[in-house]
Formats: sequence, C-alpha cells, structure tokens
Amino acid sequence: MINQSISKEILYWYDNNKRILPWRKHLTNKQKEYFTLVSEIMLQQTQVKTVVPYFENFIKKIPNLKTLSKTNNKKLMKCWEGLGYYSRAKNLKKTAKKIIKEFNGRLPDNIEQLKTLPGIGEYTSTAIMAIVFNKQFIPLDGNVERILKRVLYLKKKNEISKNNLHKKKLFFGKSSRSSDYAQSIMEIGALICKPANPLCEDCPINKRCLAYKKNDFGIKSKSKFNKVKYFEAEIYKNKNKYLLIKNNKFNFLKNLLIFPMKEINQKQFKSSLNKRINIKMSNMDMKITINEKKRKKYLSNSLLIDKRDIKNHILPSFTKKIFNSVIRY
Ligand code: SF4
Repeated sequence: MINQSISKEILYWYDNNKRILPWRKHLTNKQKEYFTLVSEIMLQQTQVKTVVPYFENFIKKIPNLKTLSKTNNKKLMKCWEGLGYYSRAKNLKKTAKKIIKEFNGRLPDNIEQLKTLPGIGEYTSTAIMAIVFNKQFIPLDGNVERILKRVLYLKKKNEISKNNLHKKKLFFGKSSRSSDYAQSIMEIGALICKPANPLCEDCPINKRCLAYKKNDFGIKSKSKFNKVKYFEAEIYKNKNKYLLIKNNKFNFLKNLLIFPMKEINQKQFKSSLNKRINIKMSNMDMKITINEKKRKKYLSNSLLIDKRDIKNHILPSFTKKIFNSVIRY
C-alpha cells in the first residue's frame, strides 16, 4: 500500500512543528555528513535532550572528521564523559580514520559500505542513507515501531517481530524529501505518539490510526528484563584520596576507572550490612554494597584520586555515582 498523501500530511506537520536541533542546522554536504554521523552515534541509547549539549560541545572541540581522526583519546573521552557507552566514542574515531583512509574523507552513500564502519549497524546505516543522502529509507527506531504498532494495531507476537515491522513500513509510502520524511516520522514518535498519553488530537495521521479508533494505546513489546547482578565495591581511602583501578576485569566499562569490585551472590548481598546502591546498566541491573575499608591497598593499574580533583579526571557516571554515595565533604 503506497500512499502519497500520508507523506504529505506528515511532512506538512513536520515543517510546522519540528524541533530546532543543532545537527539540523543549514549545513554544507560535508558538515551534514559529519554532524549526522556524530549525532546518530550519540543518539544510540541516549535521548535527544541529553545529547544536545554533548553534541554542541563535541562539535566545538572536534569540528570535523579530519580533526576527529587525529584527536587524542584523552580529549575524546573528556568530550564523551557522562554520556555513557564509551565504546561509541572509540568506534567513532575508528570510523573517522577509516573514512579518511578508505573513502577519501567522505561517508559512502552505500548501505553495505556504511555497515563496514565501526559502530554502524543496520539502524544507523539506514538513518545515514535517509538523512544524509536523501535515499528512500525509513529507519526503524523505537519511535517508528511504536507508531506502526498503534496505527496498524499490531499486537500479536508475529505481527510485532522486527521482520514484520520492516515490511509494515510500507504504510508510510515514499517521498522525494526522504531525508525530511525519515526524520518527520521519528519526530512524530518522539513528540506526539509518546509511549504514555499520546497526543492523538495533534497527530497528522489520526484519521488512519486503528489504536485511536479503538481507544487502545497499549504497546506490546518483547519485554526485556535486565538480569540483576550483585557486587561489592571496595572503597579504600587515604586522607582525601580514593583508590580507583583501571578496569580490565569486567566486560562493562572496559579500561575505565572504577572502584575495586567483585561480583557476589544474592545471599552475600542480603547479609551485608553496608550501604547499598542500585545502578542500571544497558544489560543488567547492578545492586552494589559499598564496603568502606580501613586498610590501604596497593593494586597494579590503580591510582589515588583526590576528592577535590574529581572534575579533572575522566570518570564514567557509574564511578561518579559510587563517589557521590561515599564522599563526605
Ligand atoms: S493517532 Fe495517536 S496513537 Fe495513532 S499514531 Fe497518532 S499519536 Fe499515535
């Protein structure tokens, strides 16, 4: 079902309602490639409102692909500090190097070649094809999925499979303004067809929406329940200084500074009388007991950080959260 008028209705709404985002500014083609690449990588797993200030700072410090390919890792990580999922930053730099070496400094306008770049998978390559190269792709992000499930009232397991949702994108039809069109559908998902309390009265496709007709907006998803894991963090303090180690033990936060930690079982966790904190990671919920030790400990790969000096170190939010729970000023 190819429907020209849906794209017109959606684009009309977009032209009048889109957010002004720093990566949507009027740009040269080369800037558009770089800005889209950086923003799409930042937007993997992170919300728009969180990304905006990071993006602006990143572009100020690292304004183009060539500079990115030569940026030292310390500066790169400083620009990414707090955004999480640090492998994204490392992959971004590797991608910049590869584009310069193998693609003459320009993003390839070919989906298979895009997928050869570090950190760029199915979704991001599709987004780049649409946004940068104005090709007729509609990236299937969480927003687009939600709209499809509601508009077409998809509830059954086979209906909400990724494969089927990709097929159902036909609902949106096509537009010669593919770049704007892809962004406009995602924008409706973000601003109108929200997960809770969708603003159906303002929705440009409400007349075609089965969920609206049936007044049933529940979304079926393949629920992802994170595994709960238990840890003990060991806090060694010497005057104002805290001992951190470079993590080469756990698969998460690899090579970043963390407090010495070990995994424990649920029984040990429950019997511990120490302070406890919970930290949500992308693939697990961590329950951590904070064990403040008296003795000094010396470990390879470790360093002592003065609590007044935390700002000058590149620390993952994970470590900062534990710091906040133990520091007494
Ligand atoms: S009418 Fe409501 S439920 Fe349907 S797509 Fe629009 S916002 Fe979503």
